[in-house]
Order: sequence, then structure tokens, then C-alpha cells
Amino acid sequence: VSRLIDKTALVTGSSRGIGRAIATRLAAEGALVAVHYASNADAALETVELIEKDGGRAFPVRAELGAPGDVHQLFLGLEKGLKERIGETRLDILVNNAGAITPVGQQPEDTTPEEFDHLFAVNARAPFFIVQRALGIIPTGGRIINISSGLTRFSNPEQTAYAMTKGAIEQLSLHLARHLAPRLITVNSVAPGITDNGGAVFDIPEAVEQMAQLSAFKRVGKAEDVADVVTFLATDEARWITGAFIDATGGTLL
Ligand code: NDP
Repeated sequence: VSRLIDKTALVTGSSRGIGRAIATRLAAEGALVAVHYASNADAALETVELIEKDGGRAFPVRAELGAPGDVHQLFLGLEKGLKERIGETRLDILVNNAGAITPVGQQPEDTTPEEFDHLFAVNARAPFFIVQRALGIIPTGGRIINISSGLTRFSNPEQTAYAMTKGAIEQLSLHLARHLAPRLITVNSVAPGITDNGGAVFDIPEAVEQMAQLSAFKRVGKAEDVADVVTFLATDEARWITGAFIDATGGTLL
């Protein structure tokens, strides 16, 4: 099935990890996908190539979120890419996926104001202003999907500041869902649990085994597990879901 034919999508942070899987799935359903990244151009191009190899359409867009002028730079690249390919700057699906994390093992006592501000700049402030800017080009029936985390409901002191940013993005979904309902735009949060994003820790079998125990299914999530949930929310089939918190943790919160 191709449920997203003639749709356009922006997936922030889709050079790697969960974002790459989301971009790939949306493209497989027919969407033209803007593959956004911060600095890893090779990885972003690899995502674009993966999509094109399967007959899909995608283009890369660079912008470091949290840096001055970030959202403006993102939309210059996005709108140029859309215009060149479809002759207009329409964005049907926005996925706020890019995220910064607290260093592993950091106690709340050790988080600096600079680290705290960076987390909020990338994970909460940027998505807010990306949505604000996108509203001018999202048509009736559009989709906004914000990637949160199971950590808004599962305590982990090492990730206190990070989890606070995810609480913030869930508020963005809740309140904008009502604001945008007259335009039939749905706004939802998807919360992954521990998900293999290709990072080094997922190459250590003992570490993976330990992380797997957190899920009711006793395995770590695959990026595709999360991407399929996001893709569903992007389709017309999910038109009656808005302002929701979707648990995509494989039962970690049970
Ligand atoms: P990765 O660390 O694998 O990839 C991060 C992506 O975001 C990359 O594409 C990176 O671009 C981009 N990015 C990071 N910082 C910035 C920035 N300042 N500006 C622009 N782009 C940036 O992420 P994951 O796949 O692990 O996570 C994706 C989302 O899912 C995040 O929101 C994360 O918080 C959330 N999540 C992940 C979980 C997990 O276990 N993996 C669990 C719960 C939630 P570049 O390649 O250029 O660096």
C-alpha cells in the first residue's frame, strides 16, 4: 500500500537512528521526504540514497538546531527543496524527531546550566518554533508528530533534564491539538522506549541484554518499531487521533 502518495514530509534528525527509519518508512508510502540533519552530511546522504534505491523521493536539509537562526536556515533549505521538486512549498507531515540527550551516567547534581539550556534549545524550543514556522505551509489535514520518550513516565534520575524537555514537547502536542483541530491538523506525541539507534552501546551484547529486560517483550526496540507507529499517525487512517500520547515503548511502562 502507498498511503502517502503526493504528500510531503520533514523529519528532523533523520540522518541516523529512529529519524532515518521514519524517513524511510514515510518515503516507502510515497511521501517526498526532507531529510534534516545537523552536521553528519554523509549519513544524511546515505538516508537519501536508501530511499532513492527503493524508488522513493528525498532530499537533505542541513540546520543545527539550537544555533542562532536555526529554524530560518531549516526552512530556507526545506522550502527550496520542495519548490524545486513539486513547484510549491507545501508540507503535509512534520516529524519533530531530532533530539539531544544528557551524557550517560550524569547525576542531576552535575548538570550545568549550559547543558540544561542546550537540551531545552534542541528538544523543546526548536520544535515549538519549527511548528510555528511550519503552520504557514501545512495544509488542511496535515500531521504534526512529536517524538517524546517513555522517560516522561518512567523515572531515571540520570535523565532528569532530558525528561523535562520531553515533558515540554508533550505539552506542545496537547495544546496545539486543540488549536489546529479547526484545520483538521492532528498533533500527537510518540514515546519510544530504549531503541537501537545504531549507537555504540547496541554493539555490546551484555548491555543490550540488560536494556532488553525493561520491555515487556524482553528486547530493545528497533528503529522500525517506532517508525511504523509514526507512519500510521501520518496516514488518513489516524485522522481521529489528536493530542494523544502514544506509548511506543514495547510495554516498558506497564
Ligand atoms: P540519534 O542520536 O541516533 O540521532 C540524532 C539525530 O538528531 C541525528 O540525525 C542528528 O543529526 C540529529 N540532531 C542531534 N542534535 C541536533 C541538533 N542540535 N540540530 C539538528 N539535528 C540534531 O537519535 P535517536 O534515533 O536515538 O533518537 C531520535 C529521537 O527519539 C530523539 O528525539 C530522542 O530523544 C528520542 N528517543 C530515543 C530513544 C532511544 O532509545 N534511541 C528513546 C526515547 C526517545 P546528525 O547526524 O547531523 O548529528
